[in-house]
Amino acid sequence: MALLIGAQACTSLPDQGPRPGESPDELLVDLASIHWIHGAQDCDAARIDPEYTEWQQVRYQVDTYIFRQNKCSNYEAPFVYLLIGTDRALLIDTGATIESGASLLGAVRDITDAPLIVAHSHGHGDHTQGDGAFSSADNAVVVGLGADAVQEFFGFENWPNDPTQLELGDRRIELLPIPGHEDDHIAFYDPTSQFAITGDTLYPGRLYVGDWDDFCASIARLNEWIQNKPVAYVMGTHIEMTAAPDVDYPMGTTYQPNERYLPLSTADITALHETLVTMEVPKRTYLGSFIVWPLQ
Ligand SMILES: [Zn+2]
Ligand SMILES: [Zn+2]
Repeated sequence: MALLIGAQACTSLPDQGPRPGESPDELLVDLASIHWIHGAQDCDAARIDPEYTEWQQVRYQVDTYIFRQNKCSNYEAPFVYLLIGTDRALLIDTGATIESGASLLGAVRDITDAPLIVAHSHGHGDHTQGDGAFSSADNAVVVGLGADAVQEFFGFENWPNDPTQLELGDRRIELLPIPGHEDDHIAFYDPTSQFAITGDTLYPGRLYVGDWDDFCASIARLNEWIQNKPVAYVMGTHIEMTAAPDVDYPMGTTYQPNERYLPLSTADITALHETLVTMEVPKRTYLGSFIVWPLQ
């Protein structure tokens, strides 16, 4: 299997097909240097190009995959994560369009036929529109939307204060409630990739805050949660920043030729937390790699 599907900005990467026997934590790519598909100036033309692809697929480790939806498919261009254990696999999010769910499902099933849990970073449509394809698929269960359904499925006992765990088989994922951007938002910690996956709560872009108090409490909780964990990267679900500090692309843009790279760090979580605790009233705040953007 090719490392990347798609022609845009992907030609410089080497082919990194399966290598049986490689260790689960061996890194196959450098996330800081990956060129993600980032849309096109003319999406109408791009979509009819024979090389057009709806999803870019990057194999980060032997059992860790990252997908990005094409900005010409939907301007939100969310990232989706696939984490595979020895017993089951976890897919985090399903994309921003109904149609893209089928192609994502096909890509996932080309990788693994393991029992599949389809979870969500949170319930917003740009992360759940592809659910239908998975709901009707064999050997897959889709976690319901809304905080009640999320709590029940994963067995959270003290939402939103305490984390819970999900065993994939030699890969125990930890999940932490982080409402604020949205009521049912959760973060994932994966010990194999050492990713802290923070969804729309923290990513290089505009951090839309729906409930300010919940958001501040969640960032404090997140900051404490990651203190004693080895975290390689803090991984979000969009890129909206340019490579220049504090400069974001316009909302709704379908072409981001100079976007910032995806990973953030635990220092970004701490910086966000320290900013929030000193902020007397919610206000739009630029922090270089992301922007706090209260909606209230
Ligand atoms: Zn969202
Ligand atoms: Zn989103």
